[in-house]
Amino acid sequence: MKLLHSGKVRDLYVDGDDLLLVASDRISIYDVVLPTPIPDKGALLTQLSLWWFERLADVVPNHVVSATDVPDEFAGRAIRCRRLRMLPVECIARGYLAGMGLQEYRARGTVSGIALPPGLVEGSRLPAPIFTPTTKAPVGEHDEFMTFDDVVALVGAGTAERLRELTLAVYARGAEVAAAGGILVADTKLEFGTDAEGRIVLGDEVLTSDSSRFWPADDWSPGRAQHAYDKQFVREWSAGLDWDRTPPGPEVPAEVVAATRARYVQAYERITGREWAATP
Ligand code: ATP
Ligand code: MG
Repeated sequence: MKLLHSGKVRDLYVDGDDLLLVASDRISIYDVVLPTPIPDKGALLTQLSLWWFERLADVVPNHVVSATDVPDEFAGRAIRCRRLRMLPVECIARGYLAGMGLQEYRARGTVSGIALPPGLVEGSRLPAPIFTPTTKAPVGEHDEFMTFDDVVALVGAGTAERLRELTLAVYARGAEVAAAGGILVADTKLEFGTDAEGRIVLGDEVLTSDSSRFWPADDWSPGRAQHAYDKQFVREWSAGLDWDRTPPGPEVPAEVVAATRARYVQAYERITGREWAATP
């Protein structure tokens, strides 16, 4: 199989007409991949993504062909999918204020050109979820916000409307389902493509802790940084190091690895209601 692309965390192979999206146990913080893997992370995120694709099937068609018809060495952490023509927009929905959204709000009172009410703070719930697309920056550069009109200019009005509608629909379903497990979905990033018939199809991964901000609902408290379900322990631990956030990243001690793995397991279990059983 030909390796098409190797991201920080995932590898993408071409297999005939299909693609294999393989998630590794690599973890990155501040865009630097650390030398220490988090056991089961690739499988946890792959299984969570598959669980969501199934539960979103009435909202949007997806690229999944098979989760089992994959080479043994990738079992449990790979998805065989249809190759799409990816649309050049990162489709983000936000229900709460954090990250880049918070930065733009503080600077201008808007996110992606959408005006928000005054007085919001870090972690505030927005009056309604919003579509805040960004560019897909090439490796080494950072994504930037686009306005809805920028999306229209890039993909046309019909496709832009559809992307907004689908992104908000996926977010609404995701937020509702996750809330039942005590998790707030602060924001999430989706990638869509078109298939051979020109239909818009959901690709990539969906509603994982790499593509979303998941917060424990019982710990949510606007006005401070929230404790996300992903790299919190690694980031906090790294803050105490003499490291300038450029490669190479530091080795992660076993207790930080274990605590991080436990967070990923907890997010999977709370959302799916299933007990995590590592695949072979
Ligand atoms: P990063 O490490 O910042 O995430 P990246 O986004 O380039 O970098 P990955 O997310 O690992 O790395 O790469 C997955 C790539 O596969 C993305 O470019 C995504 O757009 C693409 N992709 C996902 N699903 C499909 C599909 N069905 N058809 C074609 N390309 C796809
Ligand atoms: Mg990516």
